[in-house]
Amino acid sequence: MNEFDLIARYFSRPVRRAALGVGDDCALLQPAEGMQLAVSSDMLVEGRHFFPDVDVSALGHKALAVNLSDLAACGAQPLAFTLALALPRADEAWLAAFSRGLFALADAHGCELVGGDTTQGPLNICITVFGEVPRGQALLRSGARAGDDIYVSGTLGDARLALEALRGKLTLPPEWMAAARLRLEQPTPRIALGMALRGVATSAIDISDGLLGDLGHILKASGTGARIDTSIAINLIADGTYLERARGLFSHETRLGCVLAGGDDYELAFTAPVSARPAVQAAALQAQTPVTRLGSIENAPGLRLVDAAGQPVVGPFASFDHFA
Ligand code: ADP
Ligand code: MG
Repeated sequence: MNEFDLIARYFSRPVRRAALGVGDDCALLQPAEGMQLAVSSDMLVEGRHFFPDVDVSALGHKALAVNLSDLAACGAQPLAFTLALALPRADEAWLAAFSRGLFALADAHGCELVGGDTTQGPLNICITVFGEVPRGQALLRSGARAGDDIYVSGTLGDARLALEALRGKLTLPPEWMAAARLRLEQPTPRIALGMALRGVATSAIDISDGLLGDLGHILKASGTGARIDTSIAINLIADGTYLERARGLFSHETRLGCVLAGGDDYELAFTAPVSARPAVQAAALQAQTPVTRLGSIENAPGLRLVDAAGQPVVGPFASFDHFA
């Protein structure tokens, strides 16, 4: 199978919304009138972002999911993507499984593959996504203001627990491991929530490197500080489903560390004015995505962790690395 057979067999499908898809020197996109194009790239490298024995269809899912997550964080609607792929060899079983996972997620979001590049080399996957957002309505990192509430979507920390379990550093009960592994290997991009938060959230980011680090990007871009209630945050592991077991299995510090700095969650962290609380709840309902309010933006720079009584929580969480 040569390069062009490979592209034709696994990565060419009839175009739907794009003006021109796979097969020419460029693809052509046609953003609707009054829309801005949102563009983002993410690369996945074997050994760095995934284990060599990862489920290949899950890898296809994740390669696109991490990119769609960036569109979600901007409140953009997915349109199309390109796929640059380096493969050690044209392994048909690999290509079939990878493209299956990739297109299942792509189709779920009406996001079409319009081009890319294919080369022989160490396994490396780079996707660029294109989305659209009404002019001036993209959610940015820079809009947080003192007094705003801070929210996160979904659950945090499970992906990190799964990672540590796969590395053999800890053991999770089987059903929890299965759920945690899904969070690590097949994250859910929060597209519907991002779009529902247009005109409601003042800033947003997707959590890829851990809540504290990523929230730090909002604080820096917005020139603000923040306070986070750790007594709320700690319940975000697995949406509380395995909370009792988590208490028995892992120290408070480990649980909090996974929630605050675990990474690979692909949830959204966002801010909104107190007056927008009903609008945030309406957006969460519309997107069928739970959100949790866990702190507020403050004028004083820096990130303050507090307990339920408002007392400072000291800990190495900002640079969490219990597992290094
Ligand atoms: P060029 O020589 O102009 O760079 P290529 O020969 O690399 O074009 O690719 C031929 C066509 O196949 C182009 O339209 C390109 O976008 C598309 N393509 C290449 N690799 C992929 C891929 N992995 N997925 C989707 N489309 C691809
Ligand atoms: Mg060309």
